[in-house]
Amino acid sequence: MSPRVAAPPVYFPPSSGLVHGTRPGYQRGKCRCDPCAEANAAYGREWKERTGRPVATSTVPPLPARHGSRALHNKGCSCDRCLDAARAARR
Ligand SMILES: [Zn+2]
Ligand SMILES: [Zn+2]
Repeated sequence: MSPRVAAPPVYFPPSSGLVHGTRPGYQRGKCRCDPCAEANAAYGREWKERTGRPVATSTVPPLPARHGSRALHNKGCSCDRCLDAARAARR
């Protein structure tokens, strides 16, 4: 049903010890095939349930500058963080 096209699996040499459908495959092997992406997403969900915080991954680049401020939102940024800050300031 989803129009999302899965990336073709990356080749893991046997010596790498990486397996598709696992988080290391996604993180260390940089594979974005469906099973690897799903394993990584499941890990993130689990982690968030356990810790209440989103998992820190090196694959998500930090947002540039200091987003999450109303000042940036006023300058026209509408990223989630700046929107949240603007919303919080209105309260
Ligand atoms: Zn994979
Ligand atoms: Zn922003």
